Amino acid sequence: MYVSTYERITALIVEQLEKGAPPWRRPWGGQFQWPRNLSTLKQYRGVNVFLLSAQGFASPFWLTYRQAQQLGGHVRKGEHGAPVVFWKEWETEDRDTGAAAKIPVLRHYTVFHVSQIDGVDHLVPPGEVFDKPHTPIERCQQVVHDMPRRPTIRHDFDRAFYRPSDDMVGMPKIGAFDTAEGYHATLFHELGHATGHKDRLNRASIVEAVHFGSESYGKEELVAEMTAAFLCGHTGIDPATLDNSAAYVAGWLKAIRKDARLVVTAASAAQRAADFILGQSFGQPASP
Ligand SMILES: [Zn+2]
Repeated sequence: MYVSTYERITALIVEQLEKGAPPWRRPWGGQFQWPRNLSTLKQYRGVNVFLLSAQGFASPFWLTYRQAQQLGGHVRKGEHGAPVVFWKEWETEDRDTGAAAKIPVLRHYTVFHVSQIDGVDHLVPPGEVFDKPHTPIERCQQVVHDMPRRPTIRHDFDRAFYRPSDDMVGMPKIGAFDTAEGYHATLFHELGHATGHKDRLNRASIVEAVHFGSESYGKEELVAEMTAAFLCGHTGIDPATLDNSAAYVAGWLKAIRKDARLVVTAASAAQRAADFILGQSFGQPASP
């Protein structure tokens, strides 16, 4: 890939971040549905809206472990929850003056998506089924087809993910996406994660166990999304997906409380990832 493509995309994303990126939209599943607690039906707020949406489930409902039990369900063994964060005021005293003071402390608890819980299906309102007649974009398909040591890709899921344990990318079908470009950008993102596998670029944030919502997880998300943005630039579909990429990056920067400078660090790891997918030797300057 031309070095200028990397520079152009990175600059565009930083520029969008500085302008204040719009809220992120999941690229599949039609209208945005605000994440809600299935027991109280209350909407989550602040950065939690992004953290829960970014998990990528089609239905917007979540429960704590205890709420699931109270509703007669139970969280399946081995399922990992997602963190919900909130600020709590901590009463202390001012070190200099001894006066009473309150400091905000970040706390979190764990919620599980309804699809990770047995016995609550009957409480969940049915979701819409989408099957739009999109045509795949050939030059994007070619990139996927030509990727060296490609992971397994399966299209029978209602969310997009990469699972290092069996080196598999799971995807919704192209018809579930709002646009064909959104489908390709999402697949590029998951392939971006797959480059971190121990037999490829051996990236710590994929090889080691990291928890959803942690700083390491957030950084890996930046790398995957920057990889997708570079490949969208390479295939020429970037204007259709760049706003959403910038919004996703902005969401993660906020979740891990970092600023736009981290994008530039993530971009160099993403450049290696994109070069790997395109079959170019990494560690060398990209050839013009
Ligand atoms: Zn991801």
